[in-house]
Amino acid sequence: MINKNILEVELPVMEHFYTLQGEGFHQGKAAYFIRLGGCDVGCVWCDVKDSWDAEKHPKYNIEFIISNVEKTAAKLVVITGGEPLMHNLDALTAALLSKGFETNIETSGAHILSGSWDWICLSPKKFKAPLPEILPFANELKIVVFNKSDFDWAEEYAAKVSPSCKLFLQPEWDKAAIVTPLIIEYIKANPKWELSLQIHKYINVP
Ligand code: SF4
Repeated sequence: MINKNILEVELPVMEHFYTLQGEGFHQGKAAYFIRLGGCDVGCVWCDVKDSWDAEKHPKYNIEFIISNVEKTAAKLVVITGGEPLMHNLDALTAALLSKGFETNIETSGAHILSGSWDWICLSPKKFKAPLPEILPFANELKIVVFNKSDFDWAEEYAAKVSPSCKLFLQPEWDKAAIVTPLIIEYIKANPKWELSLQIHKYINVP
């Protein structure tokens, strides 16, 4: 039984949809995405700039958010953004876990970690570096490669996460033609890394 107060907590939701996870370790799995509004990281190449202003997005309570997830066959719920950790996610994840959902988060790590997670995908950004506290908890490190200097950035964080953390390099979508060949050669020389592609953009799903 979930505490009623938890279900009344509201969060700004930019969009929510059931699809396949397109990136990283869980690529190809069915997942319900909840994209929260609000981000202060400011990546120049951000493909969801509409998410930045949390005020632009409707606030939904957790009961409503989860009722939509329950209309699908989803087992896995991915909380993304924006930067989802701009909000305290303790209530949302408590409610999801109590209903038996698996909880994943995609975060830059630039804000204090809240929530209970089965999987944390940390994608640190140069524009606002992650807080050191989150690094030991990352299950997956996903570095978006925009130019060559991002390989140094990737290694800097690979050295800081736990030894069991999965390591992924992902081409920035608009630079993919240029950087994907560089990533392939980098992974061949440094096989601790794996390639992450945004397959949802190739198969045309959200
Ligand atoms: Fe965009 Fe994510 Fe960067 Fe925020 S952290 S600016 S949402 S890419």
